[in-house]
Amino acid sequence: MTHRVTLIPGDGIGPEVVEAARRAVEATGVPVAWERREMGAGAYARTGDPLPAATVAAIRATRVALKGPVETPVTSGLRSVNLRLRRELDLYANVRPCRRYPGVPSVYGDVDLVVVRENVEGSYSGIEFEMGSVAAKELIRFIEETTGRRVREDSGLSIKTISAWGSERIVRFAIAEARRRGRRRLTAGHKANIMKTTDGLFLEVARRVAAEHPDLAFEDRIIDALCMQLVQDPGRFDVIVLPNLYGDIVAELGAGLIGGTGLAPGAHVGGVDGLELAVFEATHGTAPHLAGRNRANPVGAILSGAMLLRHIGEAEAGDRLEAAVADVLADGTAVTPDLRAPEDGRPAVGTVAMTEAICARL
Ligand code: ATP
Repeated sequence: MTHRVTLIPGDGIGPEVVEAARRAVEATGVPVAWERREMGAGAYARTGDPLPAATVAAIRATRVALKGPVETPVTSGLRSVNLRLRRELDLYANVRPCRRYPGVPSVYGDVDLVVVRENVEGSYSGIEFEMGSVAAKELIRFIEETTGRRVREDSGLSIKTISAWGSERIVRFAIAEARRRGRRRLTAGHKANIMKTTDGLFLEVARRVAAEHPDLAFEDRIIDALCMQLVQDPGRFDVIVLPNLYGDIVAELGAGLIGGTGLAPGAHVGGVDGLELAVFEATHGTAPHLAGRNRANPVGAILSGAMLLRHIGEAEAGDRLEAAVADVLADGTAVTPDLRAPEDGRPAVGTVAMTEAICARL
């Protein structure tokens, strides 16, 4: 059966790494019909919209997308086109596996953890009030009246919202993800000791839901202590579920543990109108200084392709693709400059040559 997948090249190094991922997915032999759509600064320049309706419609129609990083044009009036897509399609779960592959320069040995980040509420609720605006002044007055606490007039305000419902669905997703991956331990990260009404609620829900799954070891960690333990001993962590902002930071920390941002894949999962939707993309940004130079590391995008294959029921092909990436990294001959340790005398290769080496292994 041919799978339909929306392909969004994006901006900066996006087109290069997405092309690498497309080639690698094809090299597994799984038949895919790609529906190419636009998003980001390039789309805005051509169509006047950084997230054209045709792109959203294609994702809804195909259910899955392989996407590159995108830039949000300042003049578009959007804070982030990525956030708009996640909100529009309610992609509430961000899965970011962090696995250290032998051969990659890193101070850590064994790292194999999965960050599950709540992706649509928390500090990213998008409810913001600019310093000095009428709404900010009204809100400051309301806060004073209801709490007796004075907020300085020259403050900007961001509202962090965490719901019981949103917490429950992300924790249930994390548990399902742990099961899918055969994992034994779930850690919830939070700052419930300070943010009682939001993180406290998240933690309460996490404990309640985890109690229904006694075969899965559950623990919770205050976010600062979690970061310290991750740096000291990342090998002890398995699946970590976190509210939005912490999840973003911890996943990036995880990318650092495994050797760099170019290596980390990701998925945004959720859906609307009864459709299960998933967008797969490397976690790195557009890295404009590398764009068009055949220097970008394609591994994050290619491993996102492996996650996509597993998601569409082609687990064996996904595993083969990941194994091919691991082989090329272990061999260390055909790797991009960011993966070349300074003391290693061998020349690095370009995005295309590294991709070809991975495809050749397949
Ligand atoms: P954005 O705001 O678009 O998310 P960012 O500013 O957080 O982006 P990136 O674009 O991810 O950051 O780039 C951060 C650094 O990581 C860059 O300096 C770049 O050198 C490096 N980097 C990112 N992606 C890659 C990649 N695929 N290959 C090599 N280096 C990369």
